[in-house]
Amino acid sequence: MIIAIDGPVASGKSTAARNLASSLGFSYLDTGAIYRALTLMARRLALDVTDSATVRAMLARAEVRLDGDHVFLNGEDVSDEIRLPEISNSVRPLAENADVRTFVKDLEHALASGKNVVVEGRDMGTVVFPDADTKIFLTASPEDRARRRWEELERRGTPQDYEDVLADLIRRDEADTTRHIAPLRQAADALRVDTTGLSADESAALLLATVRDKLEGL
Ligand code: C5P
Repeated sequence: MIIAIDGPVASGKSTAARNLASSLGFSYLDTGAIYRALTLMARRLALDVTDSATVRAMLARAEVRLDGDHVFLNGEDVSDEIRLPEISNSVRPLAENADVRTFVKDLEHALASGKNVVVEGRDMGTVVFPDADTKIFLTASPEDRARRRWEELERRGTPQDYEDVLADLIRRDEADTTRHIAPLRQAADALRVDTTGLSADESAALLLATVRDKLEGL
């Protein structure tokens, strides 16, 4: 069984999807982590990510592995480094690259194969798992999402000004929703869950209740 969760930056997807997976005894797949790991690789090698041959050559040498909450790039644990704002702000060219999207989609299918899994990203319900059993579009106001991301950066010891966090978030929303390939949008058969004004725990509880209702109706 596949539960697909899509939504914009800092909509609480990761926390809610992780909690949902553990409540249901499902695996959890954070697909943004794969785009982040590939972005880190390109940055370290100082590659021209607008050149398709260069990106293809990089993909031929990229091995991304997800293990619980840990993300490995060619054997190295990069779980913390991929969360840095400079990575968040450099994902766009790779997320818009057709070869990258195919590479990631194949990996996502392989990782989800034969499992009960909660998958989370931008194009889960629309492109990667169009036949998912349950689809959720998780969202909240930009200000709420920016506040959550700001708090997360404080907790991680990499604080930033709230205004910068909000501006980055609006820019990334714009990039994700307007790209030509696999743009972020709500699938026609997805349930919309708006967590504006809710805490992380309340968001997770609302998501769990919504999914339980849906699963009971299946
Ligand atoms: O979810 P997260 O913020 O970690 O994702 C990082 C970036 O990866 C997003 O801003 C988006 O551009 C890209 N992404 C994507 N498709 C997915 C997951 C993430 O394009 N399924």
